[in-house]
Amino acid sequence: MKTQSGHRRWIRAAVVLLLACLLHIWPPGGAPSLRADDSIAKDARLGGDAERTRFVTVLSKRVKFAIRTLADPYRVIIDLSDVKLNLPKGRGKESKGLVKGYRYGRVEPYGVRIILDVKAPVLVDKASIWPARDGNPPRLVVELTKTSRNIFLVKQREHMNSRAAARRTAKGGNSGALPFSKPKRKKSRNARRVIVIDPGHGGIDPGAVSKAGLKEKDMVFAFSKALRDKLKKSGRYEVLMTRSVDSYVPLRKRVDIGRRKSADLFISVHADSLPGRYAKSVAGATVYTLSEEASDEEAKALAAKENRSDIIAGVELPSQSSDVTNILIDLAQRETKNLSIGFADTLLDSLSGKTKIRKKGRRYAGFRVLKAPDVPSVLIELGYMTHPEDVKRLKSSAWRSKVAGAVAKAVDTYFSKRTARNPY
Ligand SMILES: [Zn+2]
Repeated sequence: MKTQSGHRRWIRAAVVLLLACLLHIWPPGGAPSLRADDSIAKDARLGGDAERTRFVTVLSKRVKFAIRTLADPYRVIIDLSDVKLNLPKGRGKESKGLVKGYRYGRVEPYGVRIILDVKAPVLVDKASIWPARDGNPPRLVVELTKTSRNIFLVKQREHMNSRAAARRTAKGGNSGALPFSKPKRKKSRNARRVIVIDPGHGGIDPGAVSKAGLKEKDMVFAFSKALRDKLKKSGRYEVLMTRSVDSYVPLRKRVDIGRRKSADLFISVHADSLPGRYAKSVAGATVYTLSEEASDEEAKALAAKENRSDIIAGVELPSQSSDVTNILIDLAQRETKNLSIGFADTLLDSLSGKTKIRKKGRRYAGFRVLKAPDVPSVLIELGYMTHPEDVKRLKSSAWRSKVAGAVAKAVDTYFSKRTARNPY
C-alpha cells in the first residue's frame, strides 16, 4: 500500500512539474548567467490601439519566456532567460494603445525582465515566439486586449496558484518559508563573524536618480564593494553581498540571504532623494533601524518608498497571512532590535567627522529589508541623490574609501563590545 501511494505521489509530482515546465514557470531558482551564446534583443516596438495592443521584441535567436500580470498598478511581466537586452536608447518611454511605457533590466533569479506598464486591466491574448522566416529574425510577440478588473484579478490568482503549486512540488511540499527555529550555526570563539552587505535596488530598479542621470543602484553598489573590501582585508569577517552584479534581488530574498547564512550583521546601503524645495536644502547621511512605528513622517515616507522596490521590479508580494507573527519571533525581535540600535549608534559615532550627517542621524521605520527576526540589521542612507554636494561625495572614490573605512571601524567596535560582554 505504502509503495502504491508513494508511486501515485511521484506520478502527481511529475505531472505538475511537466506542466510547470510547459508553462515556463519552472525551475524557479538558479541565478541567470550572461553567456556568449545568449540571444540578443536588439529592438522592441509597440503597435495597435486601445482595444488591442501588440508588443514585439526582435531576438537574435529563440528563447524561453514566461508571462504574467500584476495589479495595482496594472502591469504585464515578461521574463526571458538567456537574453541580453541591447535596445536603442530611449526605448520604453513610448506609449501606445493600452501600454503607457515599459521598463527592463535584470531580476534574480529569472534573468531579464520586461515590465509593460498598462493603462487598464488587460488580458494576455497571445504570447509566443515567432520563428525566423523569410530573412526576418525570431521575435517575441505579445498581444494584449482590454478586460475588466474582475477578470484580470481572477486570471492573476489562477496564475499565482499554479506557480505556488509548482514551487511546492519542486521543494517537496515545503512552502519555502524559513522555519523560525532553524538551528543556529554553532560558532566557536574564533569563528569569523558573518556580515551581509545589501546594495539597494539593482537591475530593473534604478532607485533614486540624480539630475545628471546618476543612479542610486550604481552609487550604492560602488560603496558596498568598497565596504566589502575593507571588511575582508581585516581577515576577521566572512563578507557576503546580496547582489554581486547589476540585477534586482527581491527584498524578501535579501532578508533570507542574511538568515540562511546566520549573519551577525546585515547592512543595507541606499541613497535617498527628496522632492521640490527640500532637494536643495537637505543633505547628509542617516541610519535607520526597523520599527512598526516610524520615528517621523519623513522616515515613514522613506520606508514606503524603499519598500516599493519590489513593486517597481514586478515581484509578487506575499499575502498578509504568510507574514510570520508569533510570540517567539516577537521576543527574538526585541533582542535583535536592541542589537540593531546598538550598532546604529556605534555607526553614527564612527561616521561623525568623516561625512556630513543629518541632524537627527538615527531614525526608524518599517523597512521590509530589515525584517529578519534574528539578524541585527540597519539601513544606511549615504546621502541624497537630489543634493549636489551629496552627489559629489557619492561619486568620489576617496570619499567612498574614507566612509567605508568608518563603517568597517564601527563593525569592529560593535563586535569587540559584544565579545567583551558575552565571549560566546
Ligand atoms: Zn534606496
